[in-house]
Amino acid sequence: MPDAMVAARASDAARGTPRQVDVAVVGAGFAGLYLLHRLRKAGFTTVALEEAGDVGGTWYWNRYPGARCDIQTIDYSYTFDPELEAAWTWSEKYATQPEILRYLGFVADRYELRRDIRFGTKVTEASWDEATERWQITTDNGAPVSCRHYIMATGCLSAPKPPEIDGVKDFKGEVYFTGRWPHDGVNLAGKRVAVIGTGSSGIQSIPLIAEQAAHLTVFQRTPNFALPAHNGPAPSDRMSLLQGDRAAYREQARQSMAGVPYPQQTAVSWQLSDAERRARFEEAWGKGDLVYILTQLWADQAVDVDGNRLICDLIREKISAVVKDPETAAALMPHDHPFGAKRPCLDTNYYATYNRSNVTLVNLRQEPIKAITAGGITTARRSVDVDVIVFATGFDAMTGAIRAVHPITGRGGKSLSDVWAQGPQTYLGLTVEGFPNFFMITGPGSPSVLSNMAVSIEQHVDWVVDRLAALRDAGFTTIEPTEAAQAGWNRHMADCSTLTLHRLANTWYTGANVPGKVQGVMPYTGGVGPYRSICDEVVSRGMLGFRLTGPNVAAQCNDGEAVRLQPDVRLVLNLLATLNLPPIESMGALGARAFVNEFNKGRPAGRPIGDVVDGTLPGTDGPLPYRVYKPAAPGPHPVVVYFHGGGWVLGDEQSDDPFCRDMVRRTGMMFVSVGYRHAPEHRFPTAAEDGYAATRWIAEHAAELGGKPGPVLVAGWSAGGNIAAVTCQLARDRGGPDIAGQLLVCPVTDCDFDRPSYNDNATGYFLTRSLMDWFWDLYCSPADRIDPRVSPLRGKVAGLPPAFVVTCEFDPLRDEGIAYAEAMAAAGVPVQQLKARGHFHSSFTMVDVVITGAPGRVQMAEALRRFAGLPPEVSLGDEHSHGHTSPGHRIAAAAS
Ligand SMILES: Cc1cc2nc3c(=O)[nH]c(=O)nc-3n(C[C@H](O)[C@H](O)[C@H](O)COP(=O)(O)OP(=O)(O)OC[C@H]3O[C@@H](n4cnc5c(N)ncnc54)[C@H](O)[C@@H]3O)c2cc1C
Repeated sequence: MPDAMVAARASDAARGTPRQVDVAVVGAGFAGLYLLHRLRKAGFTTVALEEAGDVGGTWYWNRYPGARCDIQTIDYSYTFDPELEAAWTWSEKYATQPEILRYLGFVADRYELRRDIRFGTKVTEASWDEATERWQITTDNGAPVSCRHYIMATGCLSAPKPPEIDGVKDFKGEVYFTGRWPHDGVNLAGKRVAVIGTGSSGIQSIPLIAEQAAHLTVFQRTPNFALPAHNGPAPSDRMSLLQGDRAAYREQARQSMAGVPYPQQTAVSWQLSDAERRARFEEAWGKGDLVYILTQLWADQAVDVDGNRLICDLIREKISAVVKDPETAAALMPHDHPFGAKRPCLDTNYYATYNRSNVTLVNLRQEPIKAITAGGITTARRSVDVDVIVFATGFDAMTGAIRAVHPITGRGGKSLSDVWAQGPQTYLGLTVEGFPNFFMITGPGSPSVLSNMAVSIEQHVDWVVDRLAALRDAGFTTIEPTEAAQAGWNRHMADCSTLTLHRLANTWYTGANVPGKVQGVMPYTGGVGPYRSICDEVVSRGMLGFRLTGPNVAAQCNDGEAVRLQPDVRLVLNLLATLNLPPIESMGALGARAFVNEFNKGRPAGRPIGDVVDGTLPGTDGPLPYRVYKPAAPGPHPVVVYFHGGGWVLGDEQSDDPFCRDMVRRTGMMFVSVGYRHAPEHRFPTAAEDGYAATRWIAEHAAELGGKPGPVLVAGWSAGGNIAAVTCQLARDRGGPDIAGQLLVCPVTDCDFDRPSYNDNATGYFLTRSLMDWFWDLYCSPADRIDPRVSPLRGKVAGLPPAFVVTCEFDPLRDEGIAYAEAMAAAGVPVQQLKARGHFHSSFTMVDVVITGAPGRVQMAEALRRFAGLPPEVSLGDEHSHGHTSPGHRIAAAAS
């Protein structure tokens, strides 16, 4: 029966007749309320089912002392209706729980939402009926609900985690949970109180509990980073930005990484002096703004262990400056996770509270809780008598409330819990394959808790309701993601999680706080703006990855993955697209060189290494410049002769500076980058002959250069990879020098443009087919192109040094690189290939921009060390150890 004909009628609880609606919503927090409003406006019949007695969600349940938001309230608000914005003024920078609850009540009243909410009603089961194409929702209170679409707005942090300690029920005193705090408050005056847990809720409540209690004992397992909130009125600078252009401010938030309008930082930590870094940190500390300190110090703070450690050290300094007892201060200092990998907390007087004579900190790392007894808590070292225990032990985050509805039965009788047995699988964090017409708001796989959730919730709700309306209008009655789309999203999630340091911490983001929960980074770490653009792209590409069906329309399925590029490659390419640059080949050689020089000025500076020395070497027709990159450790080191990229036309011995520095750090080897001559001034075979001559000279003068005498290695990227490959063939044929190994990164190996990668990636990935055409024309006449000194694939490939060949999926040169590797391997050369999924031609040389390129460079470094007969330890383990190591070990390993 079409939805329009299904009468929406009130349920008759006594008879248990299902209430029929188009859409059932579970939850009446920020998400559920906005859903109701949007669904109604879109003409759907709807009901929201809510366990609580009123609206508010998080802010209904979390009434503990000190409960506040930690995103500034002017940002943590609905933005869908300018009139609503004008009608409400927040009293503080970070509103208290009562004020936020009042706000949500105000919203419910303003849009008359309560009339469609069934309070005191917990959803217990849900099942998809294939025959009617409807969900049947069972509740613990009243009639079931039958709906076409089932939307869980059940919250990321709404399922409190039960205490894991034996004996709670033996305790004779009062027990409270911060996430279920009594509505009429708790009188703690004169009582001996224990707080277990020092996450956000603990850190917010401890100072206030300490003021009331006779004595407060805090049981801490894992210390957290906390920053002073400096609460008060909303800061005038933010207010004037908002009021200056409200629409632009909101739009910037929607396109930002965290849902708060701050710009992207570009300065990297190693470009700043100690004094500059400290000044930036002090400014951030003074602001009392979580998103600011998490994003505005330096560009590498959230992606690089070294850049992050600088902040950890500065915060630990702050803790020791405040907390008088050194042992307590030490116990409060986090060491087991990068700053930001676990949600930092905003506090008011948290650390100073430990200077009070009525507060004791018990470090559970040293003395774990053995039991809760009738009178208190016993640890390995002491018994603490208390009257009240407050559990601030957090939530079964992201999946807890969803899985608590059990079973959710989808197509073919499959239960969501079974499908998620190895961790949540979703498409866009919104939908699950096998569960038609089922949606989650801020589900696992969406930015959710890593963002300003007000912004993310609005985006989700708008996307879902707009899709439902569009489907209805087109006559579709079911929507379901495909297996391929979901698998692709999970891969994209995994790619994103290599971008940040979240993977290095055991946190509720990863499920590590709940015993037995499968671990993995659950929120989407790719950012709010990029996520939004992906969701929009899914729509613009014909509901990519969704199967749509309806009784009177042909089924539609535009199958595929939403994102095949690595997330940072996608960002780089999108950015380049917005610059609308003219094609490089239209600039002429001189113009193109000037452009590349300018372009390179904007990239992060390469990292410090031991020494950088410039010089010249005698080439066949005169001196050639070179640049030596030396490791910090004392030498002599094996020498790698390096050839830069640039299509034989662009670049110089300095142009791959960040790559050379990075490889020197990872290999502990010396790189000599050669300034070979360029076309069109010097056409074929000049670059090849310069490369060979330079390699010979460097091998003969290795000791003078500070390197280790003996065989050298060669490496190169793009046209430089071509020169490296050719050099190996020439060295074999011309009696030396001895080459111990070759690293060819996206090399040109052949003049043939007919391989599929030239067509698949002809445009859109920066290095285009037309640019390659231009390079070839400038360097080489058509007759010369089959010469092995420019097309080494056409030369003899037996007897070459061992090779490591890197190719990138979205690169016109991909297939010829693979062909060269395969040809060498077939001829008996030891060859290892890295076929980099989701990468483009420049991925590995855009150091500290394409962060996901780092694991590839680790493999390259390992190969070079192996070729040189060195043990692998310099780069061993980098940030991508997937083993079951502790976070501490993982952090150490990540500091490459
Ligand atoms: C103390 C605290 C502070 C926070 N501060 C911030 C902040 O500053 N900024 C920020 O972005 N985020 C913050 N958050 C996250 C916060 O959860 C979200 O911002 C937002 O409130 C979530 O709204 P929601 O509607 O998605 O979920 P919730 O507010 O959690 O609402 C979900 C509702 O679903 C109901 N429900 C769940 N399961 C069922 C069921 N089976 N049957 C019926 N009803 C059910 C619950 O009772 C609940 O009312 C904070 C969270 C906490 C706990």
